[in-house]
Amino acid sequence: MISDVLIVGGGMTGSLLACALGYSKLFTKISVIDALPSPVSTNNPIPDPRVVTLTPASKFFMSSIGTWDLIPETRIGKFSSMQIWDYYGTGEIKFENSSGWVVENKELVQANLQRLKDLEIEVLSPVKVKAITRKTRKVFVELEDGRKLETSLIVGADGKESKVRNELGIGNWCKPYPHNGMVCIVKIEGKLNQAYQRFLQTGPLALLPLWENYYSVVWSAPPDIIDTLVKAFDNDFITQINLALSSPSLASFPNQSEIISPKVIEICTEKFSFPYALMYANSFVGPRVALVGDAAHTIHPMAGQGYNLGVYDVANLANILCQGAKIGRDPGHLAFLQAYGNKSKGYNSLLAEVEESILLSYSDIKALHYARNFAYSTIGRMPLVKDAFQKAANGFDFIPQKFEWEKT
Ligand SMILES: Cc1cc2nc3c(=O)[nH]c(=O)nc-3n(C[C@H](O)[C@H](O)[C@H](O)COP(=O)(O)OP(=O)(O)OC[C@H]3O[C@@H](n4cnc5c(N)ncnc54)[C@H](O)[C@@H]3O)c2cc1C
Repeated sequence: MISDVLIVGGGMTGSLLACALGYSKLFTKISVIDALPSPVSTNNPIPDPRVVTLTPASKFFMSSIGTWDLIPETRIGKFSSMQIWDYYGTGEIKFENSSGWVVENKELVQANLQRLKDLEIEVLSPVKVKAITRKTRKVFVELEDGRKLETSLIVGADGKESKVRNELGIGNWCKPYPHNGMVCIVKIEGKLNQAYQRFLQTGPLALLPLWENYYSVVWSAPPDIIDTLVKAFDNDFITQINLALSSPSLASFPNQSEIISPKVIEICTEKFSFPYALMYANSFVGPRVALVGDAAHTIHPMAGQGYNLGVYDVANLANILCQGAKIGRDPGHLAFLQAYGNKSKGYNSLLAEVEESILLSYSDIKALHYARNFAYSTIGRMPLVKDAFQKAANGFDFIPQKFEWEKT
């Protein structure tokens, strides 16, 4: 089988790229391979614990290629404000205009797969890549079931242990974080549509709204604490999470005002844990290869940006490949790929640096505790600075201003 673009990994990032390229109608053949069978819809009324938060820019891009409307509206959580506060002082920021959408990973993949069906793009699954050979004009791929494929461009969208990255000799830099993460679904008292993040002495705890009064919990802490939380009985867990959310701050600085915390009343799913790492591929592109999503980079999920960075990769790579296709360029043309690689490195480094400085400000130095709480309150009272933060979090600076598939 001969393709213009062969995408290895049909998860949330790879299937989205296939939708964008297919929708543009600028390519003769797009192929997708995934090691796992396609997820099936269970219509479980309880949300799945694996969810992502999407920024307005991610939603805008998904709408432009027709995948967003395929996610059932009843399974999308939306928040229009976020409360951030910490264990030490009483500094608090409320981003009242901070829109975000919370969606189960499996619903995103299903929407993309439905769109691929409409666009008549086949996903070969479940099958793994066995070997990749790169020549000057083509890349040759052998699958574990013996099928042989060739392509002008291979895209690694195969997650943090990327086979494409490793087979093509692209090294990576990796620094484990001192945190593991735990996720689960809980119910909270009352129906609120606000997102919460409390920075505890041991790491951040986030609660993201889904539907009814279901919330997704993402709790980051040293591995031994996460192990204890995962093993805790439901009642103990509920006590611990409510304590973590509502325990009084250690100092009344800089405001005396009381912070209103959500109250967890039920745990609704199993708890899952994950190790975290800051990882970068040494290069996001090379001759006839591009990496997107977790194959190229992973960050701490603290700011809920991990998958959004993958969406920005897809928007930029698809746009650049479409620009090339419009002037008859081979999709494996390195100059075009490098334009994508440079842009992606830019926003990835920026967001990783922001996260690193937030984590540093939580080191055990009292002056930093004061500075942090003072900064929360000051930012909260300075509309221009607050707007600048919100603008960066919205993601519109990181995606193309105009998509090549839009009709003019
Ligand atoms: C606890 C936690 C919370 C998170 N919360 C958020 C959040 O709120 N917001 C956010 O934006 N991000 C969040 N993230 C990050 C987000 O989940 C990831 O960035 C996202 O899943 C990456 O998607 P991906 O498609 O690039 O990779 P993956 O999801 O890893 O998909 C890779 C795909 O490649 C396939 N594959 C692998 N190897 C092969 C092979 N050899 N051959 C064929 N196929 C292969 C796999 O089957 C899989 O389908 C969170 C992460 C964690 C750990």
